[in-house]
Amino acid sequence: MNIVFLGPPGAGKGTQAVDLSRQFGIPHISTGDMLREAIKTGTELGRLARSYIDDGNLVPDQVAVDIIKERLRKEDARAGYILDGFPRTIPQAEMLEELLQEMGTALDRAIYLEASEKVIVERLSGRWICRECGKVFHIVNMPPRADGICDACGGELYQRPDDQPAAIRQRLQVYREKTADLIRWYADRGLLLRVPADIAREETYKKLQEIFSRYKVANEVS
Ligand code: ADP
Repeated sequence: MNIVFLGPPGAGKGTQAVDLSRQFGIPHISTGDMLREAIKTGTELGRLARSYIDDGNLVPDQVAVDIIKERLRKEDARAGYILDGFPRTIPQAEMLEELLQEMGTALDRAIYLEASEKVIVERLSGRWICRECGKVFHIVNMPPRADGICDACGGELYQRPDDQPAAIRQRLQVYREKTADLIRWYADRGLLLRVPADIAREETYKKLQEIFSRYKVANEVS
């Protein structure tokens, strides 16, 4: 079950992927998380990535592709994966297709989480994240029990620098210019599925669960 999640920032790709990954036992691979981790640990990749990310721009295609290449070769990705935040441009999608061909596999589906811009901006500007375990909260939709503290691990909550209004606008602009074209690209290849994502989180999850369950059964039968 090799899945790509498409959709604008704030559609809930990461939130849904974490839960699906746990339920279906396949890794959630997020280039955004990997880049933020590199920034946190202060690697060379992190220093390079920071200047792009904080302003809401994309890191160069080759940087993202190199990260994914290494990650997909790991043992735990053999039974499948959910790619979140990759590919983000058509060149990245083409490079992914080539890479998977070399590895003798292919994508099963590209799932497009659809959400309106109004909902996205509300979600991103109210988002708080745990510095320790990465759990995501929202000041209105999913508030933590105690202000500024993670319910799950007690870690400190913070706002991503790119969740500031100017960076949100820039990310949406980049999404429209570079990433939205992927919807057509995957539709042309017969891989696209659309799932509404500006409804309640649990409703979107149910729809995703149905899709994933079908694949699980199909994989077991074949
Ligand atoms: P979101 O989907 O909420 O915008 P992500 O966590 O997926 O956030 O990504 C955060 C930032 O990391 C992006 O704005 C971009 O700078 C960088 N990034 C992540 N994935 C890629 C990618 N595939 N190609 C280029 N840049 C990326």
